[in-house]
Amino acid sequence: MILLHVCCAPDEVIALEHFSEREKEEVTAFFFNPNIFPYLEYVKRLNAFYKVSRSYSVSFVEGIYESSFGARVLSRFAAEPEGGRRCYYCIKYRLAVTAKYAKNSGYEAFSTTLLSSPKKNPELIHRAGYEVERASGIKYIPFDFRNGIDHKKIREVLKDVYKQDYCGCVFGLREQVIKKLERDKKDQMQLKECFPQYEHLWRFRGRKLDLTMLKIDGREELKRFLEILKPSSLVVGTELMKDFGLTGKWLKCGKYNCKIERR
Ligand code: SF4
Repeated sequence: MILLHVCCAPDEVIALEHFSEREKEEVTAFFFNPNIFPYLEYVKRLNAFYKVSRSYSVSFVEGIYESSFGARVLSRFAAEPEGGRRCYYCIKYRLAVTAKYAKNSGYEAFSTTLLSSPKKNPELIHRAGYEVERASGIKYIPFDFRNGIDHKKIREVLKDVYKQDYCGCVFGLREQVIKKLERDKKDQMQLKECFPQYEHLWRFRGRKLDLTMLKIDGREELKRFLEILKPSSLVVGTELMKDFGLTGKWLKCGKYNCKIERR
């Protein structure tokens, strides 16, 4: 019997897809994440956890939300970047409580869905996991949940499941907001430099943009413009689809993928 610490529903889906039907019967999902701030966000992630656990028919249990955890533990490492010591102690604490619960409830081993995340360093998680194993006497299993992921299936399963857009704590959230502001500033300056005639279109950043608002010369220039502006989608009439060679639902613009919507 394995107690599987669940950090969030999307990572839980990836982990549960890893197990066969028979193996799933041996797994109990355990939601213990006092790192999540604010509490309303915690409730959203908890409800998503219930939804996924029920749909996969696995046993599940919620740990106790300790509202003082951020101030008591994580604030000591407030200035650390994501992936540093703050995350190490955050992960280790969540695994330590998981192992304690496992021991008290008769489980043989524990693991975590943090191992599903492409944003987390598995070495850091394993280091915390083995330390907790030594201290608790409960076996840590270093699953490789990212191996052989069926991305199409995962996207389908997650269509109606809440997906968070930051790791969890207030410090990570702050770091993310600062990075976003810096990116916005850089892109806005680039827009001014490269496309001064469209400086006024900055307000379409993250919003739908209609291609008829632009007088752009060819596909490559369009891609360059979209990569800088990053609208949520580009609305295109059938006649212009052909002119710009827009055949699919997405247009790859450097590292940014722009959604294409037919008018
Ligand atoms: S960024 Fe995530 S893993 Fe790191 S301390 Fe915050 S909640 Fe924990």
